Amino acid sequence: MNKAVIAIHGGAGAITRAQLSVEKEQLYIQALSEIVEAGQAMLASGASALDAVTEAVRMLEECPLFNAGIGSVFTQEGTHELDACIMDGNTLDAGAVAGVSHIRNPILAARKVLENSPHVLLTGEGAEAFAQAQGLEPVSPDIFSTAERREQLQRAQLNNQTVLDIDGGEPIDPDTKFGTVGAVALDKFGNLAAATSTGGMTNKMPGRVGDSPLVGAGCYANNANVAVSCTGTGEVFIRTLAAYDIAALMEYRGLSLHQASERVVMEKLPVLDGVGGVIAIDNEGNVALPFNSEGMYRGYGYVGDAPSVGIYRDQER
Ligand code: ASP
Repeated sequence: MNKAVIAIHGGAGAITRAQLSVEKEQLYIQALSEIVEAGQAMLASGASALDAVTEAVRMLEECPLFNAGIGSVFTQEGTHELDACIMDGNTLDAGAVAGVSHIRNPILAARKVLENSPHVLLTGEGAEAFAQAQGLEPVSPDIFSTAERREQLQRAQLNNQTVLDIDGGEPIDPDTKFGTVGAVALDKFGNLAAATSTGGMTNKMPGRVGDSPLVGAGCYANNANVAVSCTGTGEVFIRTLAAYDIAALMEYRGLSLHQASERVVMEKLPVLDGVGGVIAIDNEGNVALPFNSEGMYRGYGYVGDAPSVGIYRDQER
């Protein structure tokens, strides 16, 4: 096959069965379609998979519908701490930042770490100083805040448990969803890349780092087999090395992309109460988007085809 293709996700979670959700659903479908189309256009014009996933995740970060960049969730203390990772399947180079509050697009900082530092993962102030030295303007953390996310924090703190928010009318319950964003791509040169970016989980402890910025947990790419980006209960994705486990099952067990990703998402994560999903593309251009939650914002598109996007199970359009 080996046709250039991109897949994206905007997080997974439980469905809100609200009257208003049809309108909100359209907003999500439109945003997902536009970002898949932008990725397809880049790949069609010969862009690398690395550039395509960087731009797709930057666009997802800019969209307040998703919990990454603008629209990120709050920590227990009402602050924002963002994480991101990018990996080049061709070179196995990777770059990541964690716990940053003053970088508008953490994925661009992760890309700078990949390209211009001898390291893989920079955290907190060190990551921010590096990003600034690399020409990324520092921003006030206020730009990440939205009224919806603040209400979500207040509900989470009041109830200390998940609450269904039928007033929000979002297709996936905003209080229980994992709003991480991600992209994986195969370019026409046969190179794979993966990128993941997140605000983390609402009401998380300050200093908590999830799977998203960790190579092999929430993000992984290797031209030998697969590119993967994850969303879900980060602690379980870390403990299971979920993204790398898909690659390992393909490499050592000879499983297909679908077999390997289903095994991890539908069998291995649930054993540890891991909820969420992955997007994955193998080096032949096969696409798998499995999730064990009720829904996952997702989409993919081969160059030259119409994008296919969905939110709920068995919904692809
Ligand atoms: N996996 C992310 C984290 O644990 C959350 C998410 O997927 O939204 O930080």
